[in-house]
Amino acid sequence: MRGVNTNKKTIGVLTSGGDASGMNATLRAVIRTGIYYENKIYGIQRGYQGLIDGKIQELTLSSVSNIIKNGGTFLQTARCKEFYSTDGRKKAYENLKNHGIESLIVIGGDGSFKGLNELLNEYPIQGIGVPGTIDNDLYGTDYTIGFDTAINNALEAIDKIRDTATAHSRLFIIEVMGRDSGYIALFTGIGAGAEEILIPETFSDLKGLCEKLDKGHKRGKKSSIIIVAEGDEAGNAFDVKSKIENLVDWNIKVSILGHLQRGGSPTAFDRLLASRLGYESILSIMNNENKKMIGMVNNNVKLTPLEETWTRKKQIDNAYIKMAEILSI
Ligand code: ADP
Repeated sequence: MRGVNTNKKTIGVLTSGGDASGMNATLRAVIRTGIYYENKIYGIQRGYQGLIDGKIQELTLSSVSNIIKNGGTFLQTARCKEFYSTDGRKKAYENLKNHGIESLIVIGGDGSFKGLNELLNEYPIQGIGVPGTIDNDLYGTDYTIGFDTAINNALEAIDKIRDTATAHSRLFIIEVMGRDSGYIALFTGIGAGAEEILIPETFSDLKGLCEKLDKGHKRGKKSSIIIVAEGDEAGNAFDVKSKIENLVDWNIKVSILGHLQRGGSPTAFDRLLASRLGYESILSIMNNENKKMIGMVNNNVKLTPLEETWTRKKQIDNAYIKMAEILSI
């Protein structure tokens, strides 16, 4: 296959928005596949900010040596206010043009894809998005890069909290990330054997929850854990505590897992997903695909129009929700 690429391109790649473990593995796959097929690859530092500031450098095979196992992103990531404006995007385009970059691969979440879509609508640039976010909230892929590592990070922490909860006969309310999505909460809640999981996709019945917790207490449960998704309509972990503390016979503590969920070495699953999607993003660019996100659905590679990744709602399988209820009685 080497040397058969008649569609050689100059391709820029950046990581944007919230960091997710596996972004480095994605970059490695993009850069190695791109160079294998004789494309020229430029790395852009700090997401759209680096694009506007002209922080653009050609990458080589050795730029990505030994990074598959590292969390974070060696190109760094950023949130960039200027990119929301037409002036900011004009600067970004000028910098792409000056480097001869005709195609752009953006690894990030829905915000990053919205920005990419704006740029592609305004200028003659080809672009593909790769789903890199811990939230697993993008339509068009079963899993996003970084989600599996995040839920494993969260589980490790929750298991430790369970030990202390049991030692003191306490109820812990643990808040996890996920923005408007309940995926992290649901999957960590099931994995940790939580007594209750509060997610934005379902109504959080706090009265029913209190009855269930007290039943468990009477039955002799030594600890209870409630996982709250940060976007739940009942509020954050402290809000839930204040709403239930006078209604249950438990000593309640709150723990917000926060940023420890993001980083660390990517899991095997995230390394595989990142490698596959990074590799496929280059093939999509070479096949002249445009304004699409590359994802995996039912184990098959799938391209989804960028706009659908945020306008269509990714559903949580109700079977998981029902199962979580039954397993936590
Ligand atoms: P994520 O990609 O993780 O969802 P953000 O929502 O912070 O992260 O988006 C990352 C960056 O993408 C923003 O800082 C901004 O530069 C750009 N961006 C987001 N939404 C838009 C938009 N509607 N128009 C232009 N750029 C956007």
